[in-house]
Amino acid sequence: MTAPRPLIAGNWKMNGLAAALSEARAIAAAVDASPPAARVALCPPATLVARMADALAGTGVAVGGQDCRAEASGAFTGDIAAAMLADAGATMVILGHSERRAGYGETDLLIAAKVEAALTAGLEPIVCVGETLEEREGGRTLAVVTGQVRGSLPAALAGKAFSVAYEPVWAIGTGLTPTLEQIEQVHLAIRSTLMQQFGEHGAGVPILYGGSVKPSNAVEILGLKEVGGALVGGASLKAADFMGIVAGA
Ligand code: PEP
Repeated sequence: MTAPRPLIAGNWKMNGLAAALSEARAIAAAVDASPPAARVALCPPATLVARMADALAGTGVAVGGQDCRAEASGAFTGDIAAAMLADAGATMVILGHSERRAGYGETDLLIAAKVEAALTAGLEPIVCVGETLEEREGGRTLAVVTGQVRGSLPAALAGKAFSVAYEPVWAIGTGLTPTLEQIEQVHLAIRSTLMQQFGEHGAGVPILYGGSVKPSNAVEILGLKEVGGALVGGASLKAADFMGIVAGA
């Protein structure tokens, strides 16, 4: 089986007004001028999804959401359905980010339901997993992460395009990163869990690494066995930094 193209996705979190679309345009111009080995996506706040999708239409950069509701519609003030993201021009969605698991009490069960909603809407899910510092220090990293993979990925993903992002919670936005050996160990455990769940299809699912990825560490991280791309937070806000990471794939 040929390995799928890596995916480098930027998670803008709650950052970006309309003026920030100039960074997205600069990223798309750089991608189109010199097409990289990786697929490239940007996940802006919900308010920018439609405008970014318009701005990047026809370029080599996809647009994604950062979350969606599991239900298709209804009395859920402030929430966004998967079909609304797709309608706005998104083709992907980040689900189960640790900031939502911790800040909104999102469980594996809820995330699996959101994944199903995303698939129904035709979106490609990027499902996040990762241990806290306490869990790592307690020697529970592999049990926690593989448990999240099993619990957050529904059987409906069989044969569908999706990726898993391993994001150690303690490495997000902190400037800290695990050792290369630690990243490789967790990615190998995720791969074998994916193969148990999805058979041969699980062998080709990209497993992204996320947590303080920057141009200076991208090449060594992206070169690791079983690392199939990166989910990038802070360093995705500036075109020059993000393209420095994309170039490392
Ligand atoms: C993230 O939030 O998905 C992330 C990886 O953030 P950062 O790159 O800023 O650590």
